[in-house]
Amino acid sequence: MMPELPEVETIRRVLAKKIVGRRIVKAEVRLPNPAASRLSQNLRQQTRRLSRNLRGASIKRISRRAKYLIVRLGEALLIFHLGMTGQIFVIRKKEHTHTGMPELPDKHTYFILHLSGDSRLYFRDIRKFGRIHLIMKKEEKTFFRALGPEPLSAAFTPESLRSGFKRKKASLKSLLLGQKIVSGLGNIYTDEVLFQVGILPQTPGGCVSGKKIAKLHKAIPRILKEAIRNRGTTFSDYYDPESRRGGFQARLRVYGRQDEPCLKCGTRILKAVIAQRGTHWCPRCQK
Ligand SMILES: [Zn+2]
Repeated sequence: MMPELPEVETIRRVLAKKIVGRRIVKAEVRLPNPAASRLSQNLRQQTRRLSRNLRGASIKRISRRAKYLIVRLGEALLIFHLGMTGQIFVIRKKEHTHTGMPELPDKHTYFILHLSGDSRLYFRDIRKFGRIHLIMKKEEKTFFRALGPEPLSAAFTPESLRSGFKRKKASLKSLLLGQKIVSGLGNIYTDEVLFQVGILPQTPGGCVSGKKIAKLHKAIPRILKEAIRNRGTTFSDYYDPESRRGGFQARLRVYGRQDEPCLKCGTRILKAVIAQRGTHWCPRCQK
């Protein structure tokens, strides 16, 4: 299960309370094996930059863009993408790990920020699809240039959806996962949004009516905000930095409910691979 916008926003809020104002004493990179993994290549490229440039920097603010977590250090930005199974934990040096938290650092821990006040931030990633970047503030726009509008911002409008879907033959599922028309949605929230709006995930972008686009535009932020209020969705790997699990899984209406009765009409929920991802829908409520 992949952390999506609500999970990253939950992590951002916890980190804002825990590490803003702290100074980085040391940044430690532990290269993963096998060397071929995406994270390993990424860290190999970034190691020198990370270990040289972070020392002494103060954490000013934590922000988020789509599924990226941004630790703002004045002129430099330390950016995390959690990939499929990335986790960030913050603990005090002498503090015992919380229940459910692994003994840290373990063999899946690839990056450690030693912070003032004896705390440490651990980046852990079992499947190693995560990434860490250190960029300068002036590179921020270029770094995020491929991302579509932030769904909780004013840049996200019915018009931005309409022009993104226009004449597209690709399925809604794939277009919404693509991050270009709107950013931050992943597999879970895309299924939830399409269920609530009543559109089949297979629908080609160019075939969505103006009425449905207006509904989608309302549903996307509404569902994301509801998930943020519930601290995101936990299946197996997601914990926030205080090792709390999310609460949204109890509120999922379609994702993960294959073969169960639809909560609206009782029809059996279907699941198939669409856009390379396991996709769930109600064949009666979604058209
Ligand atoms: Zn139904």
